[in-house]
Amino acid sequence: MTESCVGCGAIIKVIDGPIHRYMTSAPGCWERYGELLGALAIDPTLRVARQLCVDAYATQHPGTPGPQAIQSVAVHLINFHDYLVRRRPVSVPHLLGHKGAFHWLQPPSFASSRTVFDVPVSASGEEITEAARAWAESVWAAWSPHHAQVAAWYATFAR
Ligand SMILES: [Zn+2]
Repeated sequence: MTESCVGCGAIIKVIDGPIHRYMTSAPGCWERYGELLGALAIDPTLRVARQLCVDAYATQHPGTPGPQAIQSVAVHLINFHDYLVRRRPVSVPHLLGHKGAFHWLQPPSFASSRTVFDVPVSASGEEITEAARAWAESVWAAWSPHHAQVAAWYATFAR
C-alpha cells in the first residue's frame, strides 16, 4: 500500500508512525526526514546540507494556517531568500521585530519539485550537499508566486 504525502506529494509506503505537530506529512515521509537529519548530524562538514534540508522540508510541509505554521514557513522562506537569492553563505539570518508580522501564504503545488527522498542518506558529502541544494532550489522555485512577499519581509526584518 502506498500513499501520497500531503506536504510534498511523494508516493511512499504506508506506515504507522508519528508525524510533526504542524509540518504535516505522511508518516513515511517524516520517518525518512528523521533518518536523513540523523545522518547529516554526525558529520560537521554537512552543516550546509543540513540547513538546506531543514528549510526545504519545512517549506514543503507547510501544514494548515495557524500561528506556528505561519511563522515556520515564513522564517524558512526568508532563509532561502538569504542564501538562494542574495547568495549569502548558508547561515540563518537574524530576524528582528517579526513576531506576529507574517501571514499565511497559500502553498504552491510541489508536483514537479524534488523531495526528501531525492537526498541520499549515505553518499559522499559532496553528493549529499549537491542533492540538498537541488531540493532546496526546486522547493524555492515552487514558491515563486510568493517571492516578492518574502523579499519584502526580508528587507523589513532581517538584520
Ligand atoms: Zn512529504
